[in-house]
Amino acid sequence: MFGSLVIAGSKASPEFAGRLESPNADEYKIDVVRVVGDRLLILRNDDIAEATPQFDRQVRALGIEGQSTIRNLRVGIVGAGGTGSAIVEQLIRLGVGNLVIVDDDLVTPATIARGYGSRRDDIGKTKVELLARLAGQVNIDTQVDSVFGNIQNEMVALRLRHCDVIFCCADSHGARIVLNRMAYTLLCPVIDVAILISSSDKKVTGIDGRVTWLAPGTSCLLCRNRIDAVLANAESLDPLERRRLAGQGYVPEIEDPQPSVVPYTTLMASFAVTELLNRLFGFSSVEPTEVIVRLLDRHISVNRVPARVGCFCDDRAFLGRAKEAPFLGIAWVK
Ligand SMILES: [Zn+2]
Repeated sequence: MFGSLVIAGSKASPEFAGRLESPNADEYKIDVVRVVGDRLLILRNDDIAEATPQFDRQVRALGIEGQSTIRNLRVGIVGAGGTGSAIVEQLIRLGVGNLVIVDDDLVTPATIARGYGSRRDDIGKTKVELLARLAGQVNIDTQVDSVFGNIQNEMVALRLRHCDVIFCCADSHGARIVLNRMAYTLLCPVIDVAILISSSDKKVTGIDGRVTWLAPGTSCLLCRNRIDAVLANAESLDPLERRRLAGQGYVPEIEDPQPSVVPYTTLMASFAVTELLNRLFGFSSVEPTEVIVRLLDRHISVNRVPARVGCFCDDRAFLGRAKEAPFLGIAWVK
C-alpha cells in the first residue's frame, strides 16, 4: 500500500488531502486524519451533519463541528465497573457514535451500588451486556461492541485496534501494562483512571484520584511509577499457584476487593471524560499530562514528568508499530 498526504491551512485550522493506493492499483481517498500527542485532533474531509435536537444545549458549548467530532469517535473502555460504567453513561449521553467495551466480570450484588446501567435482577449477567442495553435504552444512536474477555488476552486486545482513544478503568496492573503499550504502538491515546481509598483503624485517611494522559510525546505509566511489575506478575498466575508462592513469600497475597463508593468513582469518571473533551477541543492548557485529585483536602493538582531514558515511550522508532508481531511487542499467554 502506498499513500500520499498533503497538509495545508494553518496550525489552528489544518486542512488535508490524501489517498492510498493498493498494489493492484485500487485507490482510496483519505477521509480522516488523526493527530495524536498532547492534543487529539480529528481532521475530517466529509460533510458535517446537523446535530439532532437532543444535543442542542451541548452544541451551544462545543459547536456543530465539535458535536460531529464526538459523533464520529470510536472510544474503547476497558473495565466496566464503577468508573468505567460512569464513563460509558457519559459517553452515550455526549453522543459518541461507537464504543468498544471490554470487561470479563459478571454482575454481583456489590455491582449494583456503583455500576451504571445495573439493576438487582441483573445478577449473573455480564457487565458489558448491561452497558450495551443502557445504550439501547438511551437510544441516541450509540453503537456498542461488547467484548466479554480479559484485555491480557491478545484476541481481546486486538478488538481495540481501531479506537480513536481508550479509557483504562481496569483494576489490574496487568491490564495497565497492555494499555500502556497500546497508547504508543497504536498511536491511540489512553486515558488511565485510578482511585484509591486508604484507611487506618477503620478511619478513612485518604481518597485520591488520578487521571493520566498517555500518548506519543508524553511519559508512560512505567516512567511515572504507576504500574507495579511484581503485582502484575502475581495477577497473571493461576490462583492456586499464586497462593502457594504467596505462602512462601515470593509474591504478594491476594488482596480483598478494594473499597469503592459511587460519588468518588463517578467524580473521577467525570474528570476523565473532561480530559478527553479538553484534548479534543483545547479548552484549557494541554501541557500537564496528569490530574491528581485529593478529595479529603479538596485539592486538585496537575503535573508532567519526563520519560525515563531508554523507555519505549521515548523511542520514536517504537511508535505506530502495531502491525509487527507479536502485537504490541508483548509475549501473550496462549
Ligand atoms: Zn515510559
